[in-house]
Amino acid sequence: MLDYLGDLRRTHMCGALRASDAGKKAVLMGWVNRRRDHGNLLFIELRDRTGVTQIVVNAERDAAIHEKAAALRNEYVIAVTGTVKLRDANTVNKNMATGEVELVAEELRILNESKLPPFLPSDTALTNEETRLKYRYIDLRRDVMQFNIEMRHKVAKAIRDYLSAQGFFEIETPFMTRSTPEGARDYLVPSRVQPGTFYALPQSPQLFKQILMISGFDKYFQIVRCFRDEDLRADRQPEFTQIDLEMSYPQPERVWEVVEGFLTAAFAAAGSTIKTPFPRMDYDEAIRLYGIDKPDLRLPAFVDVKECFAPENLQQLALNTNLPIVAIRIPKVGELSRAERDSIKPLFISKGGAKVFEDFKRIEKNFPEAAAKISAKAAVEAGDLIAIVAGSAQTGEQTALPTHRKVTPQELAIYASAGLLRLALAQKYAERHGIFKKTGDPAKDFRFLWVTNFPMFEWDEGEKSWMAAHHPFTSPHEEDMPKLEAGVESLHDPQSELSAVRALAYDVVLNGTELGSGSIRIHRQDVQSRIFRALGMTEEEARARFGFFLEALEYGTPPHGGIALGLDRIVMILAGAESLREVIPFPKTARAVDLMVDAPTPVGEKQLRELGIQVKK
Ligand code: ASP
Repeated sequence: MLDYLGDLRRTHMCGALRASDAGKKAVLMGWVNRRRDHGNLLFIELRDRTGVTQIVVNAERDAAIHEKAAALRNEYVIAVTGTVKLRDANTVNKNMATGEVELVAEELRILNESKLPPFLPSDTALTNEETRLKYRYIDLRRDVMQFNIEMRHKVAKAIRDYLSAQGFFEIETPFMTRSTPEGARDYLVPSRVQPGTFYALPQSPQLFKQILMISGFDKYFQIVRCFRDEDLRADRQPEFTQIDLEMSYPQPERVWEVVEGFLTAAFAAAGSTIKTPFPRMDYDEAIRLYGIDKPDLRLPAFVDVKECFAPENLQQLALNTNLPIVAIRIPKVGELSRAERDSIKPLFISKGGAKVFEDFKRIEKNFPEAAAKISAKAAVEAGDLIAIVAGSAQTGEQTALPTHRKVTPQELAIYASAGLLRLALAQKYAERHGIFKKTGDPAKDFRFLWVTNFPMFEWDEGEKSWMAAHHPFTSPHEEDMPKLEAGVESLHDPQSELSAVRALAYDVVLNGTELGSGSIRIHRQDVQSRIFRALGMTEEEARARFGFFLEALEYGTPPHGGIALGLDRIVMILAGAESLREVIPFPKTARAVDLMVDAPTPVGEKQLRELGIQVKK
């Protein structure tokens, strides 16, 4: 049965034959990608993961092979031996890497047949995604998927090689563990041995990597699966892969240098040379300039246009002069029709009384002086789209409220409304301005950024309490410690000094996508306890959840810090894919279902009984 191993050992890959191979014997194995029947001449496109080669079967040369070949259908697995021949000049196919040659079949063996698949890897039109996911093994045979998965391998390998060369050890951490807070729900695994107790699948190896620092492995990394039960979007998966790392004694800059190093290696593996160091920006500045903490630098920043308006203009427009007034400029959108301008309004999501003036022509007509100043300040060119976002006068004098932050919550609302509109407009008119199209110049195509100095806490309006903006193991800024002290006294006050505590946290952003976040950690048990307290946890609660960790901190913990980046996202961007599902071999749908294996499924009574679990109908 397996005699192809003996006398048909593969000598070439299907995508590798070139003109210089002419005259050589070759043995190819693969799938029938396509076949064309020209009577006495049969052409078979044979495919493996490297590409395709044309096989010619000539009835006049060998009637028996021809007869066998006539029975071939798409996706049959075959082995062919033959001689490589240069194609006639008029049949050379310039679009194929192997297009100058063909293999003249001398022996053909059918290794396996195939049912007619629901779609073919060679189809040019894509079938619907559900069918693709159900028959993922067929889908993965497509050349785009083969390319993406190969790219994923190369990127991961480049990162491993780089970090290993820098002295990092790859160390595994458990999947069956206890809950670590990263802001999502846990996936739980019931224990049979101790019914009623559960392991949690890790949302990240956060505490283990910190413990590895306490254990003396001063440079750790892991390309590791993380599990988060949260609402899914195109760029989320319930299980995803992080490039997770941690080091002892680093300044943030040292972590950034390591990340820039491995990203350079990863991008080089995908054929792009990127420039380091990446620019850096404070969180507050990102909010003021882009209205978001992950700015897409490919698009122009906001322009502050408050002083372009005379005081009476502001009154006439009913604008709150205490709040920001910013212009959004989207270049080269061209003249918009009335209907097109009207279609902008629904894109605007107003927060905190923000309002939008999407018709700049109206401003030009009613306030020509202000419009001229805005055009000059924002360097507006013909065809640029300008929208102005400001706070309505009806929001009152809210900024008079005391605040400890550089950007107040009221200002944040205006900036955030403008930030969302800026992105929505850029998406809507992407075809026209062309800014998102790849230019081939990595300096333009890949705009990296470090965002730093995040706030340590975020106010949760629903819970009426403070939450960790990153995670509770992040170190506050040394100079903000007094504010932390003071803030712990006013835990349920949105104006608490906790709002002004900055974290030693950083995000790495690429083209408006957050690739990863990290921080310098708390390495002192007393500070860690205070943070838990600020998050509304009593001493007992903190001990119950993280006692093992608080205890470990007391045994000589070196200062440490790290970061984690999403591998799937990086590969998605490098592959130019639209969704994470295009770069994950076996992904889940938006309903967290694996359509191929059909998971999750109910389990049998016996299994449930053993686990001491009863399912409520
Ligand atoms: N554990 C964090 C996360 O998964 C990353 C880090 O702080 O290193 O987002």
